[in-house]
Amino acid sequence: MVFRDQIEALSGQNLNLCFQCSKCSAGCPLAYEMDLKPAQVMHSIRLGRRDSVLNSRAIWLCVACETCTERCPQGVDPAAAMNAARLMALRAGLEPGVREVGVYYKGFVTNMRMNGKIHDASLVAINRLVSGRLFDELPLAWKLLLRGRIKPPPLPLRGARFRRMYRRALAREMDQPL
Ligand code: SF4
Ligand code: SF4
Repeated sequence: MVFRDQIEALSGQNLNLCFQCSKCSAGCPLAYEMDLKPAQVMHSIRLGRRDSVLNSRAIWLCVACETCTERCPQGVDPAAAMNAARLMALRAGLEPGVREVGVYYKGFVTNMRMNGKIHDASLVAINRLVSGRLFDELPLAWKLLLRGRIKPPPLPLRGARFRRMYRRALAREMDQPL
């Protein structure tokens, strides 16, 4: 299956509907930081530029706000295409184009697997530690702690059921087309 077909299969989009009006790029709140704007990502996918898309910063900076999707006059869903590209990059074992985002994603899933739910404070702390920016949020963390807004992490006792669900979901996902 060629790259464009893979993205279409994963995202459920017909990318041929995109006529490159760039309304998605104009509305994207993160476009100013992206190496490829959303419309360029769409065009690159159609041209089969797999490496350029999967190694881009754009697919990792996308916050899935779906502004692009709302603005598209053709009913295309660029947010879903971005998501599919991220998934493909992960499955291909590529390093995320924005390291902090990759660290956050991995930390999020690990946190969820351990606890069965997200413990925000430990997620942020581990993310900062791995990113080498442990002290960035320290003043804020201290204030939240003093006001009782940071709860201690739960003991990882109730995560077993969730871990089983997670393993089943992962096995099912691996059966899906790439
Ligand atoms: S808004 Fe829709 S049609 Fe226009 S460039 Fe973006 S995806 Fe393509
Ligand atoms: S979903 Fe992603 S690409 Fe679309 S507007 Fe939001 S940040 Fe930009």
